[in-house]
Amino acid sequence: MGTTQQDAIIVGAGFAGLYMLHRMRGLGLQARIIEAGSGVGGTWFWNRYPGARCDIESMEYSYQFSEELQQEWEWSERYATQPEILKYINTVADRFDLRRDIQFETRVNAAHFDEQSQRWLVSTDDGQQISAQYVVMATGCLSSANMPEIDGIDTFAGEAYHTGQWPHEPVDFSGKRVAVIGTGSSAIQSIPLIAAQAQALTVFQRSPNFSIPAHNQPLDPVYVKSIKDRYAEFRAENKLTAFNANFGYNEANALEVSEAERNAEFESRWARGGLPFMAAFADLLFDPKANEYAGDFVRGKIQDMVKDPELAQKLSPSSVVGCKRLCVDTNYYDTYNQEHVSLVDLRESPITSINASGIATADAQYDVDCIVYATGFDAMTGAVMKIDIRGREGQTLQSAWAEGPKTYLGLAVAGFPNLFTVTGPGSPSVLTNMLPSIEHHVNWIADCIKYVNEQGAVSIDAQPDAQEAWVAHVNEVGNTSLYPNCNSWYLGANVPGKPRVFMPYLGFAPYAERCQEIVDNGYEGFALSA
Ligand code: NAP
Repeated sequence: MGTTQQDAIIVGAGFAGLYMLHRMRGLGLQARIIEAGSGVGGTWFWNRYPGARCDIESMEYSYQFSEELQQEWEWSERYATQPEILKYINTVADRFDLRRDIQFETRVNAAHFDEQSQRWLVSTDDGQQISAQYVVMATGCLSSANMPEIDGIDTFAGEAYHTGQWPHEPVDFSGKRVAVIGTGSSAIQSIPLIAAQAQALTVFQRSPNFSIPAHNQPLDPVYVKSIKDRYAEFRAENKLTAFNANFGYNEANALEVSEAERNAEFESRWARGGLPFMAAFADLLFDPKANEYAGDFVRGKIQDMVKDPELAQKLSPSSVVGCKRLCVDTNYYDTYNQEHVSLVDLRESPITSINASGIATADAQYDVDCIVYATGFDAMTGAVMKIDIRGREGQTLQSAWAEGPKTYLGLAVAGFPNLFTVTGPGSPSVLTNMLPSIEHHVNWIADCIKYVNEQGAVSIDAQPDAQEAWVAHVNEVGNTSLYPNCNSWYLGANVPGKPRVFMPYLGFAPYAERCQEIVDNGYEGFALSA
C-alpha cells in the first residue's frame, strides 16, 4: 500500500472530530477522520451502560455552530439519555454529509513528523500510511478505559463489563447476582437501574462520592422556546462564566452570609438539582470552610435519604465537595434502602483478588454472576499517549510528557508542529460544559490553520518558553483552588504510576480571553515555518 496524501488527519469521530471535519471542509481542505469505533459518537458511542445520560442540561449540550440545527433539534428531557445524544450525533453526521470522510474500525498507531517535508506520516492498524500537513487529536478526555490491576482479574468465569466499553446489545441482569466496582458518575448513574433488574447487587466502594439529585423531567416547551428565542445570547452568556454553563452563579461567599442564608441557598440548589450546586457560593472551591459547609449539607441529605445510619455514614464522603467531579443521580442513595442491595466498604476490607466465582476481599468472598467495572478512565492523556507520536528530532510525546502533560493552551505541544489537541490538558475542558468548549477549540484550530495557510507558511509550532509559562500559570491557578487536595482523575491519581499534575485549566472565561489575545497578537508564543 503506498502513502496517501491528506491536508489533515483527525483522530476520533466524536463531537470534536465531526465538527473539526466540517470546519476543515469549510477551509477547502481535504481532511479525513480515523475512528476506532464502528460508528460516530465518541463517548456516546462507547458508554452505553444502563442509565447513561449527560449531566449537563440538554439545552446547553448541543452544537451551536448551526443556528438551523439548534433551532430544529428537539430534546425530550432536561438531561438527555445516551441513545438520544447518539441519535443527535448521527443526525449531525448525516445532515452535514460527514461520513464520506470517516474511516471507521481503524486505529491510528503512530504519527511521526518529518522535518524535511514538514508533514506528519500517520500509520494505522490496517497498514495505511497517510502523509498529512496537520494532525488533530480529537480523541476525547475520558476515552481510555481504566481497568484496575487486581490479582486474578482474568480468571472470573462470569460476565464482566466496563461501563466505558459497554456492549451494543442490552445486558439483562434479571435473576443475576451483580457486583459493581466503583462509585463515580458512571456507577452512580447505573446502580439504580442495575438494582431494578438484578436478583442481588453488591457495590464495592473505595471512596464515597458526593451526588446531587438530577430532578430529571420532560422538557417544558415554554422553557425550550424561551431559550430558542435567544439561543445565541444564551450561549454567549454562558461563555462569560467559569464553567461555560448556565449554573446561575452566586457571587456571594459562603463565609460572608448568615447560617440561615447559607442553608437556604444550598436548599434551593438541591431543589434545582445537578451541577449548579457548585455555583452556590463563589468561595466553595477555594475556601476549605466554605466547602465544609457544602459537605455538611450534602452529608445531612444522605443521612435523611439512607435509612440505615451506619450505611449512610459509609456513603458519606469526608472529602472536599467537587474536588472529585460532582455526580448527578436519580434515586442513587434511595437504592441502598432496598433489601437486595448491599455495600462493601473497601476502606475497611480491600479487594485482594478476583477469582472464577467472584470477588475476594480481606474479609470475605462474594460470589457473583456479573462484575461491572465502573472504574473510570486514564483521563485527558490516556488516548493520546497510546499513540506513538514523534515530533521534531524524533522526540516522543511520551518523553515530552514524562513528568505530566505540557501544552500551550491545551491546544498545541512545543516540538510537535501542526499537531493540535482538542480540549487537551492545560485547557478548561473537563471542568466545563464539554461541548461548547470543544466548539471553542475547534474554531480556534480552524482559524489558526487558515492563518498559517494565508501567511504562506507550512507549519506552526508552540514555543518552549511560552509553553513553560502557560504550564506554570495552569498550576498557579489550580493551586488557588481546593482541586489539588484529593486523589481525583483531574490529577491522574486514579491510574497507578501516572504523574500527579492538575491537568485542566480553571476558568473558561479568562481562558477564552487569553486565547483571543494570543490570536490578536499575531499568534503570540507560536513560530511559523515557511
Ligand atoms: P471515576 O469517576 O474515575 O470513578 C471510578 C470509580 O472506580 C471510583 O469510585 C474509584 O474509586 C473506583 N475504582 C477505580 N479503581 C478501583 C480499584 N482498583 N478498586 C476499587 N475501586 C476502584 O469514573 P467514572 O464514574 O467512569 O466517571 C469518570 C468521569 O466521566 C466523570 O467524573 C465525568 O466527568 C464523566 N462522566 C460523566 C457522566 C455524565 O455526564 N453524566 C457520566 C459518567 C461519567 P476512587 O475514587 O477511590 O479512585
